[in-house]
Amino acid sequence: MLNIILFGPPGAGKGTQSENLVHEYELVHLSTGDIFRSNIKGGTELGNLAKSYMDKGELVPDNVTIGMLRAEVNKSQNANGFIFDGFPRTVAQAEALDEFLESKDEEITVMLALEVEEEELKTRLMQRAKTSGRPDDANPEVIQKRINVYQKETAPVAEHYRKPGKFKGVNGVGSIDEIAERLFTAIEESKS
Ligand code: AMP
Repeated sequence: MLNIILFGPPGAGKGTQSENLVHEYELVHLSTGDIFRSNIKGGTELGNLAKSYMDKGELVPDNVTIGMLRAEVNKSQNANGFIFDGFPRTVAQAEALDEFLESKDEEITVMLALEVEEEELKTRLMQRAKTSGRPDDANPEVIQKRINVYQKETAPVAEHYRKPGKFKGVNGVGSIDEIAERLFTAIEESKS
């Protein structure tokens, strides 16, 4: 199996590039943000809980997020592999993911980190707000909060995968196709 974590701050292009990777490698795309948003749309209990954190730019608690992620992986028994997009976002989530995959004799193949400067992220998120309909993109204070939460709680997850040599940084600035090519190259290197 090919199990990829697509990592990076909000606005780095994880969702966009996930589509390219799914296409190229026939993987199951699991975006915890998308799953929360579809629960919000469906008015589920999980959606209501998640919304109270998402609207403020805070992280949904680990136990809720980890439980949901495990259930989603278990729904795709015959997958070639997964793209984890927006997960793990804390070291506790990374540890839980590793343990969960190990229980299935699987592991993370590589963490691909899209690298983009903070000013560019803010510009992209404000632009995305015009079409995404996401309340957390529309408010500059919430955007700043999400970036701060990323730096404090999520950035340390890179170290977790750097230690076993699974971390690869990828320049996240350029055309969508250029960035996709960089990701494909990084994946091919990590497979060999
Ligand atoms: P995203 O779509 O990845 O930008 O995520 C949008 C929001 O969903 C985040 O700001 C968090 O509030 C929540 N969220 C998504 N993924 C996670 C996660 N792995 N852990 C905690 N909260 C998450």
